Amino acid sequence: LVSLQRMSKRYGDHLVLPQIDLRVSEGEVLAIIGPSGSGKSTLLRCLNYIEQPSSGVITVADTQIEVGKDDNKRRVRELRRNLGMVFQSFNLFPHMSVLRNITLPQVRVLGRSEKEAEDVARRLLERVGLADKASQYPSRCSGGQQQRIAIARALALGPKVMLFDEPTSALDPELGLEVLGVMRELADSGMTMIVVTHEMSFAKNVSDHVVVMADGAIIEEGPSREVIPNPQTERARRFLRAVN
Ligand code: ATP
Ligand code: MG
Repeated sequence: LVSLQRMSKRYGDHLVLPQIDLRVSEGEVLAIIGPSGSGKSTLLRCLNYIEQPSSGVITVADTQIEVGKDDNKRRVRELRRNLGMVFQSFNLFPHMSVLRNITLPQVRVLGRSEKEAEDVARRLLERVGLADKASQYPSRCSGGQQQRIAIARALALGPKVMLFDEPTSALDPELGLEVLGVMRELADSGMTMIVVTHEMSFAKNVSDHVVVMADGAIIEEGPSREVIPNPQTERARRFLRAVN
């Protein structure tokens, strides 16, 4: 469902990602782990063109983009249509109610009617356990609640793949657990997910596959249940020893 072929990213002289090859199949949950500065966020941000990649071929569902060749606005919009993204910071609109935060993108991006958007929003708020917060402002919600609202907002656009960049690292452990619970349910429902995370228990118990990055490269990958307890490379072993 997702593939990156020889994707690279440079900032000026700094080649952050020399060459990434990655495939994610439908229904798979992939965890991306690795030390700070290894390029995990850059990989996700290039995949959905929040950052312009430097070269490579990106495929998500029916959309294939060769970087620098057919990455015009229309194609990038088409690529993003299939991707939902949840960041470390929740990025909700502070001056809008929780419900409005979820309905507005549907109306703007998908052209849904207000009525239809509201039905979708209420159903998703129910799903993330926040049906009672619809008319609240985000600032009156806890960090864990705000992150679950951000997940509902992303899901409302019907993505085929959900991308998460350390969704719990700004949260107290207890609030992080609420968010991880929602993510686990999403995984169980069959959603394809790519999750950058420092939560080894999530990586081990929820993700199917794991990719270990260091210095802009994938140094190890495979089934989470094999790689995490028993990494083959010394670099991955060192990282996993430090975080476990
Ligand atoms: P963390 O675990 O701390 O979030 P990460 O694995 O997500 O780290 P990235 O944020 O992708 O790492 O950064 C990878 C490298 O790219 C770092 O060396 C960083 O300094 C560099 N980098 C990231 N964004 C930019 C930018 N906008 N301009 C220049 N260099 C950048
Ligand atoms: Mg990061």
